[in-house]
Amino acid sequence: MERIMTNRMDRGYYRYQAEYEEAALRALRSGWYILGKEVEAFEKEYAAYTGAKYAVGVGNGLDALTMACRAIGIGSGDEVIVQANTYIASVMGITIPGGTPVFVEPDRYHRIDADAIEKAITPRTKAVMVVHLYGQTAPMDRIREICDRHGLKLIEDCAQSHGAHWGEKMSGTWGDIGCFSFYPSKNLGAFGDAGAIVTDSEEYRDRIRRLRNYGSSVRYHFEEVGMNSRLDELQAALLRVRLTHMKELTEERKEIAKRYDQGIANERIETPEIAEGAEHVYHQYVIRCGSRDELASYLKEQGIDTIIHYPIPPHLSEAYAYLGHKKGDLPFTEELADTVLSIPIYNGITEEEQQRVIDALNAFRG
Ligand SMILES: *Cc1c(COP(=O)(O)O)cnc(C)c1O
Repeated sequence: MERIMTNRMDRGYYRYQAEYEEAALRALRSGWYILGKEVEAFEKEYAAYTGAKYAVGVGNGLDALTMACRAIGIGSGDEVIVQANTYIASVMGITIPGGTPVFVEPDRYHRIDADAIEKAITPRTKAVMVVHLYGQTAPMDRIREICDRHGLKLIEDCAQSHGAHWGEKMSGTWGDIGCFSFYPSKNLGAFGDAGAIVTDSEEYRDRIRRLRNYGSSVRYHFEEVGMNSRLDELQAALLRVRLTHMKELTEERKEIAKRYDQGIANERIETPEIAEGAEHVYHQYVIRCGSRDELASYLKEQGIDTIIHYPIPPHLSEAYAYLGHKKGDLPFTEELADTVLSIPIYNGITEEEQQRVIDALNAFRG
């Protein structure tokens, strides 16, 4: 029997193969490969999709976060409150510009705990970073209100939440700046590295346009030390194609999740829940299990791949040893790291494949 992998990006490609190939050829034949018409068009279309005034295409999600933190003025000595259960890139986006991450625990939906934010505020707090982890939106009206009341900036890491709303507004548009990754496996995936920021602020838009291009807005005039982090024309052309299909792709992910919700029945396994008022676009379908490692190796034997998002929380990562955290500092985050497991979910997974996953999970007696 064929292995069921955690992702099959080829299926995403073949579904719209003719459209992708037409767009790629258009970009290749244009003779213009960096910061041209495709990027400009994608930025307009992505802003319109999210409901933000502006989008700026950048090289990847980490750079989007790093430049967003720089744009709001994060530097040495500034604290940014962020949930402890996130991908390391969220934290690196804070520390690369010199900021200090202040970790708080998530709620049981894996979202930053709004009550914990207020308790973590100090005179050095400059911003809050929200991560819509796995694709479920955080309570943004509440968090926006907390930030406004304390004079804090708000950054959203939307690398896993393309198209997900809180209330009427899409993730990315509640904060001062929303940061997106279009890494190939993301809900809106490119065919290489790519990312973007969205904002309603002309100031932040212009600053990030400058930062992505060596700190220059007029050719060979360098106003500050920037980066080289531009979205390229080929990726922009391909992203424009996938963007036109986001509605059906997101609906499909929700249907896949529903089949798992309805099919998985094993008292050892907890399926993900959606908080009231949130939308979940299922970048990942994350179950929890007390004997997680046994479950993962049992599934592997059955020909089913799984992945752990994430096995080591950033505060215990070697990269952040200098922050001086130790095991036990963030007990719920650490418990999640020991019990979460992401099962296969991707556009194009078949009902037969899903049934194999469901049957294997239901037969687990670990
Ligand atoms: C993927 C991801 C990123 C980083 O995106 P890259 O494009 O890989 O740099 C940041 N934050 C989260 C939550 C992610 O899942």
